Amino acid sequence: MLLIRCWFKIIFIVTIALHEAHGQDFSYLGSYGPEHWGEQYTSCSGKQQSPINIDLVRTRNFSFPPLIIKGFDEVPKSAVLKNNGHTVVVTMDFEEDPTISGGPLNDTYKLAQFHFHWGDDDDRGSEDLINNHSFPVELHMVLFNQKYEEFNNAAHNVDGLVVLAYFFTIANETNLAYVGLSFLLEKIVVPDHPVKYSYVPKLQYLISDNFENYFTYTGSLTTPPCSEVVTWIDFETPIPITSEQIKNFRALRTKQDQPLTHNYRPTQPLNGRVVYRNMNYTGAFKNPKISQDDSDRKIYIKKSISNKLNLNIKLYMMLYMIIVSRVNAI
Ligand SMILES: [Zn+2]
Repeated sequence: MLLIRCWFKIIFIVTIALHEAHGQDFSYLGSYGPEHWGEQYTSCSGKQQSPINIDLVRTRNFSFPPLIIKGFDEVPKSAVLKNNGHTVVVTMDFEEDPTISGGPLNDTYKLAQFHFHWGDDDDRGSEDLINNHSFPVELHMVLFNQKYEEFNNAAHNVDGLVVLAYFFTIANETNLAYVGLSFLLEKIVVPDHPVKYSYVPKLQYLISDNFENYFTYTGSLTTPPCSEVVTWIDFETPIPITSEQIKNFRALRTKQDQPLTHNYRPTQPLNGRVVYRNMNYTGAFKNPKISQDDSDRKIYIKKSISNKLNLNIKLYMMLYMIIVSRVNAI
């Protein structure tokens, strides 16, 4: 009798273990880590995968039409913050959904959600890299092509999704736009217990206001199923944040109750894809809706960003101006 009970117990434990294993769709470590995603999701082994390393020597300069950003200055009616076991996702309900069009895009894309990627420490965390430099956090604003009406329909089409990617840089001053979110991370340590994101700032406060300097390329979702349906727009101006403000990301837990210390996928081969770098040297375009509200914005974000990336861009532009003036002189 005791033996039968024992066998039942073993069978029960094995069944639970198998269920748990099967229930784990993907992770960032071990046998479900990024190098194994392709075994279960064929697209993850595709030729147009993200993230990538953006090599500044190999980017192709291009002057796209201005990006048209709408609704990023609206206050959402409500917002929810959730740990889904892989990342922190913010979904919002607007009177009218924010959209983006123009630039490299042929259609208008509607905001679905935004989420974050981070690393074990401040030296790594972003998914795309610039000259192999990793940023501590990366924000992804995910938008879907409104001609497909719903996100799930769009996610099956090559022109279905746009991700606006923003890199973060460590600053000394607290980024007031992120105070609420950092605080709420403590409330969502355990997955699938969403909280109301009260006093969510306007989207424009969470990002940088430079919509002119960006990289763009065609790629994929950076998580399974890794669908190759994403136009990436990576903005060059990083968002300042303190080291203290991003600590709470690393304290989150996965559905297997493991620490979610990092959630970035390693970079993938470019396979001949071109990364375009939008350059608007005249500075003629400034998104009116964003710039009008600049004084308001200053309440949230102190503009004291001085970092390597910005410095590089300034040096690059100076060099360009010198070359142009020389050519003109000839
Ligand atoms: Zn992402």
